[in-house]
Amino acid sequence: MRLVLLGPPGAGKGTQATRRVAHLRIPQLSTGDMLREAAAARSPAGLRAAEIMSRGELVPDDVVVAVVSTRIDRSDASLGFILDGFPRTLPQAAALDRELATRGAKLDVVLELKVDEDALLKRIRGRAEEAAMKGESVRSDDNPDAFKTRLDVYRRQTAPVSAYYRSRGLLKTVDGLEPIDVVTANIASALAPCFSHQGEAAGR
Ligand code: AMP
Repeated sequence: MRLVLLGPPGAGKGTQATRRVAHLRIPQLSTGDMLREAAAARSPAGLRAAEIMSRGELVPDDVVVAVVSTRIDRSDASLGFILDGFPRTLPQAAALDRELATRGAKLDVVLELKVDEDALLKRIRGRAEEAAMKGESVRSDDNPDAFKTRLDVYRRQTAPVSAYYRSRGLLKTVDGLEPIDVVTANIASALAPCFSHQGEAAGR
């Protein structure tokens, strides 16, 4: 199963992707995590990405597409993957189609978590406070200024991606404001039809 999880920053994509991973036994490919790893490794590309990320802006399409293209060729992704945080622009969505087509593959489903902006702002403040209380490091883009930029970027550049997938009949939406377990259950129900024509094993 090749699945894309869409949704604004703070919508719970990471949490829900982790839960799906446990269920489907396919890897979660988070472009945010991959870029943060590149930044931590202090490669020139990683350091450039880190600076863009700390402002809440998008890393250039060709950089992210190259990262994803390399990652989906790893053996653990051969049966499928959950893309978390990619594609975020229409050119990225088109590039993903091309990358999959050259491998004789295609996306099965795109799942969008819907959450309103006030709730997101509250959630992101909570996330930063909770991390600070636990003494964990707070993501440099989890501050109100960068978060507002990330929301704005989402509205302008990523929202059209859901329309793109809707027009192709791939999009399913779930209310991301419900309690986490309810969202997980609703995602499972939304994905169930994708497995109905496959056996239980194939539906992993
Ligand atoms: P995330 O962890 O998904 O919230 O991503 C954190 C940051 O990484 C984003 O605000 C962007 O700066 C960068 N990033 C992650 N995924 C992408 C992408 N698909 N395209 C461009 N930038 C990305």
